[in-house]
Amino acid sequence: MKPVKFAYARPQELSELTELLHSEGEDARILAGGLSLGAMLNMRLVTPRLLVDINHVQTLQRTQNAAEYVQTGALVRQADALLSPEIARDVPLLRAALSHVGHFQTRSRGTLAGSIAHADPSAELPLALTVLGGAIELASRRRSRVVNADSFFLSPLRTVRRPDEVVTAIRWPRRRNDERFAFREFALRAGDYAVVAVACKARVAKGVVEDLRLGFAGVADTPILLDVSFACGERTGEGLADAISARTKALEPTADLHASRDYRRQLAAVLTKAALMDVFTPKLESVS
Ligand SMILES: Cc1cc2nc3c(=O)[nH]c(=O)nc-3n(C[C@H](O)[C@H](O)[C@H](O)COP(=O)(O)OP(=O)(O)OC[C@H]3O[C@@H](n4cnc5c(N)ncnc54)[C@H](O)[C@@H]3O)c2cc1C
Repeated sequence: MKPVKFAYARPQELSELTELLHSEGEDARILAGGLSLGAMLNMRLVTPRLLVDINHVQTLQRTQNAAEYVQTGALVRQADALLSPEIARDVPLLRAALSHVGHFQTRSRGTLAGSIAHADPSAELPLALTVLGGAIELASRRRSRVVNADSFFLSPLRTVRRPDEVVTAIRWPRRRNDERFAFREFALRAGDYAVVAVACKARVAKGVVEDLRLGFAGVADTPILLDVSFACGERTGEGLADAISARTKALEPTADLHASRDYRRQLAAVLTKAALMDVFTPKLESVS
C-alpha cells in the first residue's frame, strides 16, 4: 500500500515547529528518523494531513551534560548514541539497550526520542529509560514540561504527549559510582523487537544490594517495573533471583502470535536470573 496524500513542512526553528503543531493538532505527524512512521504511513495505520519533518531544527540536534543526567536532543541518532564515549561511561544501560535496537542501517537514522515517542511495548529504549528513572522534555507553542518516564507511556503507541507537543529531549540519569546495570533480551532474530527484555539497575555497596530496579519490555502494554525492593540486602545474583522468583512467576504477560503467555513468563524468569547474575559480574560498568 501507499500512504494517503499529505502535505509536508520542514520547519527550521522550534517556534515554527510548535506553531505548526498548534494549528494542525491531530492532523499533523512528526517525522524524525521515519523508521517506524514510514511503515505506519504505508500501511495507512496513520493518515496525517501534514507531515512535519523536524530534521532541520538545529536546537534538537544537541547532546548536553547536566549534573544529574545526559540530555539527548530529539534528533540524536541511535547510532551516534551507541558510539558515544560519554554515553558508554555515563549511561551504560542505554548503550546496552541500543545494541539490541534494529540494525546499524536503522540506527543510523532512527532517533532515541523517536523510539520513546513511538512507545512500542517491546522496544528497548522506553524500558531502559523507565528503569533508569529518566524523563521526557516536551514543548508546545505556549509551554514546556518534563514528564517522568514511568508516567509517560499509556498503552501501545500511546503516551501522555499532546498532539501540539514535540519531544524536544530525553533525560538519561547519569550513572553513580555504586550503580551497576544489566540488560538481557530474547528476540526471534538479531535486530528484532524483543519478545521479552529485562533491564536492571542496582546500587551495590560493599557487596550488598542496597537498591534495585527491575523492568520488562514485551510483557505488558507499556514497559513495566516490578517492585523488588524487598530483595535488597542480598549479596549474590542467585540470592536475588531466588528472592524475587515468586514475583516473576506471578507476571501475567500479554500473548500474541510470537509467544504465548506461559512462554513469555518463563522467558521473563530466565532473563531476570541472567540479568541479576550480570549485576555481580559488572560488564556494563567498565565499558568505555
Ligand atoms: C528493520 C527495523 C528493525 C527495527 N528494530 C527495532 C528494535 O529492535 N527495537 C526498537 O525499539 N525499534 C526497532 N525499530 C524501530 C526503530 O528503532 C525506530 O527508529 C524507532 O521506533 C522510531 O524512531 P524514528 O526516529 O525512526 O521515529 P519516526 O519513525 O520518525 O517516528 C515514530 C513515531 O514517533 C513520533 N515522533 C518521532 N519523533 C518525535 C518527537 N521528537 N516528538 C514527538 N513525536 C515524535 C512520530 O510522529 C511517529 O509517530 C526497527 C525498525 C526497522 C525498520
